[in-house]
Amino acid sequence: MALIVQKYGGTSVANTERIKTVAERAVSTAMKGNQVIIVVSAMAGETDKLIKLAHEITDMPDEREMDLLLSSGERITSALTAIAIQKLGYKSMSFTGRQVGIITDSSHTKAMIEHIEAGRLKTALDEGKIPVIAGFQGINEFSDVTTLGRGGSDTTAVAIAAALKADLCEIYTDVEGVYTTDPRIVKEARKLNKISYDEMLEMASLGAKVLHGRSVEFAKKYNVPLVVRSSFNEAPGTLVTKEDGDMEKIVVSGVAADKNQARITIMGVPDKPGIAGGIFNEIAGANIVVDMIVQNVSSDTKATDMSFTVSKSDSKKAFKIAKNVSDRLGAKGVNMNTEVAKVSIVGVGMVSHFGVAAKMFETLAKEGINIMMISTSEIKISCVIDVSHAGKAIKVLHDVFELAKH
Ligand code: ASP
Ligand code: MG
Repeated sequence: MALIVQKYGGTSVANTERIKTVAERAVSTAMKGNQVIIVVSAMAGETDKLIKLAHEITDMPDEREMDLLLSSGERITSALTAIAIQKLGYKSMSFTGRQVGIITDSSHTKAMIEHIEAGRLKTALDEGKIPVIAGFQGINEFSDVTTLGRGGSDTTAVAIAAALKADLCEIYTDVEGVYTTDPRIVKEARKLNKISYDEMLEMASLGAKVLHGRSVEFAKKYNVPLVVRSSFNEAPGTLVTKEDGDMEKIVVSGVAADKNQARITIMGVPDKPGIAGGIFNEIAGANIVVDMIVQNVSSDTKATDMSFTVSKSDSKKAFKIAKNVSDRLGAKGVNMNTEVAKVSIVGVGMVSHFGVAAKMFETLAKEGINIMMISTSEIKISCVIDVSHAGKAIKVLHDVFELAKH
């Protein structure tokens, strides 16, 4: 008997017909002799709708209130799914994040799971029930509802799988797995049979929205085998797993673009020790994650420009902080460009191959695409470019690294 966690995304629970299909799959998995735990997202579009409602009232709604608001979407689908499973004659029970003891920190709208008190879940399983958990949410030490960031239901699923030492965590979505790039942009994109945790982490952080980044971190840390597959058919999906020898033979496994980026530049920052630490300390203090940072060495003046990127949703807040810091330091000013995208190539094989970066830059240059910022890691090269070129960049990179083949 295996313990299987199945997570269903928004399109998989978009209406009651889809929810009935989810219930059928859950019951048929259980009938094969498995224990099954379901984690659900809100119905497709529901979270966006709730955010829009709040923004009709104010530009910057309070984040604690946003969390209570947004957590309601997943509650609806968890209860409906449990009802649908019961209708099939199987025992089921829905739970909110709080009810299954998902304890998080207090960074509202992007909380981190600290631990899971899985007692109630175990009892439900022992009683032969299929527990259905509302994804994306937990509570903090004050019993306030928190949410885990957009796409966070994946993280709920993997964290539950890790806590209960599940044999498998299946992430059901509306695509058949992880692709070499977004198949809506490049029709030659190919589905990968497997991908390493590290590559998937990079792809996820690059805006390949198929998996929430933090869920992959969890999966890697606790070695949870993860499968991404479609709830609309029986295709086998993509296995996200430990790196193996085969994977290194492939130099580039995927290309991704992240359009959810903003670049902020503080101009004329004094060039002396402690300034960068000061700036990024304040930004971190506001729970904002900074991605790329570029600072030039100043040649003749005693000042330098400092650019960094943050996600678009954090950009207003980050800009305000940068402006305050700039005023205080007597810098020349701050500008922000939200019309940028980060395009990246990813592959564990990059470590052992030459010339990958040069090939990427030349390919972009040939298309007349200007590179504003560059960052690299052992298995990734990213370039910030104008957002209007993102689609084109993805296509030519997918082509030049021959990702449609293999
Ligand atoms: N409903 C949330 C969102 O749309 C969480 C999730 O679906 O994973 O971001
Ligand atoms: Mg998702």
